[in-house]
Amino acid sequence: MKECAYFRASTVAEAIDAAAADANAFYLAGGTNLVDLMRLGVAEPRSVIDVSGLSTRITQLDSGGFGVGAGVSNSDLAADLRIRRAFPMLSQALLSGASGQLRNMASVGGNLLQRTRCLYFQDTSKPCNKRANGSGCPARSGVHRDLGILGTSTACVATHPSDMAVALAALDVTVHIDGPSGRRRLSLDEFYRLPGDDPTRDTTLSHGELVTTIELPPPAPLLSNSAYRKARDRASYAFAVGSVAAAITVADGVVADVRLAFGAVAPRPWRARTAERLIRGGPATAEAFVAAIDVEFGAAETLPDNAFKIPLSRNMAVTLLAELAADQPTDSRT
Ligand SMILES: Cc1cc2nc3c(=O)[nH]c(=O)nc-3n(C[C@H](O)[C@H](O)[C@H](O)COP(=O)(O)OP(=O)(O)OC[C@H]3O[C@@H](n4cnc5c(N)ncnc54)[C@H](O)[C@@H]3O)c2cc1C
Ligand code: SF4
Repeated sequence: MKECAYFRASTVAEAIDAAAADANAFYLAGGTNLVDLMRLGVAEPRSVIDVSGLSTRITQLDSGGFGVGAGVSNSDLAADLRIRRAFPMLSQALLSGASGQLRNMASVGGNLLQRTRCLYFQDTSKPCNKRANGSGCPARSGVHRDLGILGTSTACVATHPSDMAVALAALDVTVHIDGPSGRRRLSLDEFYRLPGDDPTRDTTLSHGELVTTIELPPPAPLLSNSAYRKARDRASYAFAVGSVAAAITVADGVVADVRLAFGAVAPRPWRARTAERLIRGGPATAEAFVAAIDVEFGAAETLPDNAFKIPLSRNMAVTLLAELAADQPTDSRT
């Protein structure tokens, strides 16, 4: 690992000033991804700016929603009783990730910004367009079983590895950012970018921009009747092979409202807006869910070893939606 300078920021302004002063500075939160990438030689910062002491609170907002500081640990967010009650899918997604020790270190901001686990990205002896655009994408003809089928490009078929971000996509959160050019707010759709012909950047953040807060919506019956499900190669300590975050309300057998997002299929958490539109207002039946999700995955471009992700994702989503529709408490029907 190359040596680098270390600076612990005591305020957001200090962090941003330090990042603005060095074009090769990286923010460091829990370090559970960045330090691994530094050891592998994938990330070679000249300086790291420790932001782990900043934005560490979960607060209730005037809107009734919650502001989750980027420095809140994955464990603390998952355990917060208000979050568990209002957004079960978020708490469940967090608890399905990594291990207890990692979740204690991992921050909300770092989780959003962790890099892909594509094997070639992590191996500097191999070409990879995400590390060095133009060098090629060996995953297409090589090991791609865990890689993406939606939103990918010929340049890159990597997936985003976060579980938490899949639930956040279904929750319609707002990401608050501060940076050298001021503050801004982005939806998750605006925050993550698709690879196109430049896979090197995963997000629309500019250098020095710091995620400060994730704004969650006010609690609602729809969002409390939600869940997260994850398929993986072992029961713990493994990234998703497929995952789904879902929420639904049903009245008299008709879907009043629905949220659906998939993980491990795309370069960003995949909000299934087409399927949602088709499901909303229709019968709350497995047949209707299958038909809608098949339309969503109609846009999929599979490679020989990852086509199984379509039936896997569809089956997980249909089962979860059917369970949530059947189990919803009487007072959550709208
Ligand atoms: C063995 C293992 C298994 C794992 N399994 C899972 C899993 O199943 N599911 C899952 O979702 N995750 C999993 N993870 C990933 C883990 O959740 C992430 O490594 C963690 O969330 C990253 O958070 P961090 O605070 O440690 O980030 P860091 O490593 O400190 O930073 C990660 C990136 O985010 C940037 N960054 C950090 N904070 C900010 C900020 N506020 N603003 C802007 N940029 C910022 C850093 O510059 C860096 O580029 C696993 C990790 C390991 C090592
Ligand atoms: S899929 Fe993306 S990250 Fe993986 S080798 Fe290809 S370009 Fe690199």
